Amino acid sequence: MGIATINPATGETIKTFAALTDEEIEAKLAIAAATFKSYRKTSLTQRSEWLMRAAEILERDAQKLGEMMTTEMGKPLKSAIAEGKKCAVGCRYYAENGAAFLADVPAKTDASKSFVRYEPIGTILAVMPWNFPLWQVFRFAAPALMAGNVGLLKHASNVPQCALAVEAILTEAGFPLGAFQTLLVGSDRVAGIIKDERVKAATLTGSEAAGASLAAAAGREIKKTVLELGGSDPFIVLESADLAAAAATGVTARMLNNGQSCIAAKRFIVVNAVADEFEKLFLEHFQGLKVGDPMKEDTDIGPLATPDILAELDLQVQETVKMGGKVLIGGKPLEGVGNFYPPTILTAIPPGSPGEKDEFFGPVALIFRVENIDEAIALANDSPFGLGASAWTNNPEEQERLIEELEAGSVFINGLVKSDPSLPFGGIKRSGYGRELAKEGMQEFLNIKTVWVK
Ligand code: NAP
Repeated sequence: MGIATINPATGETIKTFAALTDEEIEAKLAIAAATFKSYRKTSLTQRSEWLMRAAEILERDAQKLGEMMTTEMGKPLKSAIAEGKKCAVGCRYYAENGAAFLADVPAKTDASKSFVRYEPIGTILAVMPWNFPLWQVFRFAAPALMAGNVGLLKHASNVPQCALAVEAILTEAGFPLGAFQTLLVGSDRVAGIIKDERVKAATLTGSEAAGASLAAAAGREIKKTVLELGGSDPFIVLESADLAAAAATGVTARMLNNGQSCIAAKRFIVVNAVADEFEKLFLEHFQGLKVGDPMKEDTDIGPLATPDILAELDLQVQETVKMGGKVLIGGKPLEGVGNFYPPTILTAIPPGSPGEKDEFFGPVALIFRVENIDEAIALANDSPFGLGASAWTNNPEEQERLIEELEAGSVFINGLVKSDPSLPFGGIKRSGYGRELAKEGMQEFLNIKTVWVK
């Protein structure tokens, strides 16, 4: 696939972009390395001011940036505008807390003075996905820049305008030339860029295949990586849950971003005692969802980002149904232009079908029935992934068990899994490793230097 803006609602190619040449990539690597030498010496106060300014620009341009995101990847405009504003929150979070996260930490040892110091390491490559085209980038860029690192962005090939917009926002905010650069390149160039000795580490958010490929290339060069990969998050509903709230929130948790979120609730695991009632409420909400033009205010679900994603989702659903799965609603792509797929619920998920273990990246909910909490936890953990988990119960003992026994990077009780700048974000198992956001996210790309003085 080339680098292009193709409107997923209409199929229209709006703009194509030439990939950078070898010479252009070399120039950007050189500028990044040169900039790091001076940038790392800028004061924390200065970096914080630049991040604050970036936040103002993100808010000022929220409408325009939202329209850009919606045009490139199809999320409803209201969510896109909210995403731009969330990036501002992320910038302010690191502007306000970065200095405290980076302060020396004294240690008691046999030295006259010993402490831990946090230092930037240089140029970090970020390979990012299209699904949250601004938020994914800012949650990397804000902590990296605050810590004194410089960034190179290889964004997904279907969101080039968003990729360029991030560089423009950070430049307008005042960050020096070379502190953050967008590389318009295909994924075939990533391994070569990581190999370059001027690149010190890399982070990737995306599929398992892309993550494995990046980690292998980085591993050969002894370079650190952070991987934020896929998920098939459970959404567990137990007997004492507030069923109305669980059903309403479950729909939001599944449908956010047209169903294309790594932390979307994908497997709804419901105890038999309340399964009929939950399914009824859940279905009623699905029946009320509006699929259509993502630019319209009342649209709940826009098109999927690319025809390939639509085709893969369709295949997963057809295969699950062929093996015995039942369709409660939806189940087939919508006819006409655009990559539209209707809100779909599948039940009676057959063992061995794609519904059992695969990630469904679109508006398809999978409902599983279990007898009790033991079965619910066992089923939730029987997944190659371990990103987030949401569980609904008002029984404190059950809440404690879920917190302790669910195998995931995060557990949310009586709420949907979400990212928040002040909470670390990441997964275990095939969902990846390392963390973004909070203090932990900032520390991933630092030299944690031990200092001992006598
Ligand atoms: P993808 O195909 O892996 O693309 C993600 C990024 O990786 C793009 O920039 C892509 O570039 C690049 N890429 C693809 N193959 C690569 C390779 N072999 N080497 C280096 N880079 C490569 O992912 P996607 O299908 O677009 O995104 C959806 C996946 O991302 C889902 O599994 C979702 O769960 C996951 N995700 C995870 C998180 C998280 O935080 N854990 C957040 C969002 C999404 P091109 O576009 O040029 O191919």
